[in-house]
Amino acid sequence: MAKELIRLSGCNVAFDGDIILDNINLCVKDKEFLTLLGPSGCGKTTTLRIIGGFLKPDSGDVYFDKVRINDVPPHKRLVNTIFQKYALFTHLNVFENVAFGLRLARTQNKKIDKHEISRRVFEMLDLVSLKGFEKRDVASLSGGQQQRVAIARALVNKPKVLLLDEPLGALDMRLRKDMQNELKQIRQAMGITFIYVTHDQEEALAMSDSVVVMEGGVIQQVGTPEDIYNEPSNAFVADFIGESNIVDGIMRSDGVVEIFGRKFKCLDGGFDPLEPVDVVIRPEDIDIVSSGKGKLTGTVTGVTFRGVMYDIIVDFHGFKWLIQTTDLCPVGTEIGIQIDPDGIHIMKKSRFSGMYGDYSSYSAEYDDIGDAELEHETDDKDSITRNA
Ligand code: ATP
Repeated sequence: MAKELIRLSGCNVAFDGDIILDNINLCVKDKEFLTLLGPSGCGKTTTLRIIGGFLKPDSGDVYFDKVRINDVPPHKRLVNTIFQKYALFTHLNVFENVAFGLRLARTQNKKIDKHEISRRVFEMLDLVSLKGFEKRDVASLSGGQQQRVAIARALVNKPKVLLLDEPLGALDMRLRKDMQNELKQIRQAMGITFIYVTHDQEEALAMSDSVVVMEGGVIQQVGTPEDIYNEPSNAFVADFIGESNIVDGIMRSDGVVEIFGRKFKCLDGGFDPLEPVDVVIRPEDIDIVSSGKGKLTGTVTGVTFRGVMYDIIVDFHGFKWLIQTTDLCPVGTEIGIQIDPDGIHIMKKSRFSGMYGDYSSYSAEYDDIGDAELEHETDDKDSITRNA
């Protein structure tokens, strides 16, 4: 197993009396791609700044290779940072931007000689696919090219860790996807640790070895992308990572949960008998069958074509579910649903229970649902919640 490289232990940060980070405990392994993921303001950048040495925690410790580094300044840490705004030197060309750190650096108290600088700059430009751009003015480069210069500049000093704060935020979607793949390849080629900040869950799932989901200055879950998606720890994580229907349930026994008065087989256990739980069902895990054959029967109230599949909204006694299907089910159709046991994930109740996972107000297509009807649906939902 990869060894621990960085550890945050009980880190707390408050600004003006507001708690920004609340008891952060985190282990980053050597050479892993770890992503801090969460909504705006949840404390991702603050965590990154602690690792980079730009901010000291009010309490708690930071370790690098098991050595406490709370008092080590940023330039003495084996860490470099790429910010969303690339902060390139506009008066220098591409070569000089990348060479900048090397010109300042010294090896064994000697300046790095110009041949070595040149060799390393060209090596980096090759790595980020900017061969031939060395004389270009950075202002003349596209956003994606500028981003590559920033990456080359951050890597040329061979840090052990690269911190990346929403580095692709300024790029358009297509370029962003290309750069995601390139960053993964660059990390593999360099064999170093990446700690990446994003609020984009798709990006986090696509790129990371480990994802740290944060909310309100608290780590909600740490796991592989598969763990986080398939086994979310609470309703917040389930909702933040992809689309999910989150409904109330009651555990009847290990492997059996009751939803809307019907028993469904599941794979989870270890709950108290009759314990109220949150049940997550991903839209792609629901099979549509004829209404007579379904465990639950509902009415289609909205259909949106998404290219590879349809998103359909189905009303089950006033609680609206999102189902993704390749079958066309026109609005008004009565359908039945089946869910395989591995499509049902059970979570403990938490402070996020009841806040997410109902599609009553899903997207602009459903704006025409009148307020009166919505109120009525809310009543129904409440009664289902009470009955559950
Ligand atoms: P985003 O995705 O929007 O960048 P984030 O998760 O990275 O958000 P942080 O930048 O870590 O969030 O900020 C967390 C909270 O701390 C925010 O409410 C922010 O306003 C606050 N904050 C950060 N730095 C300071 C500061 N120097 N003084 C006061 N408040 C601060």
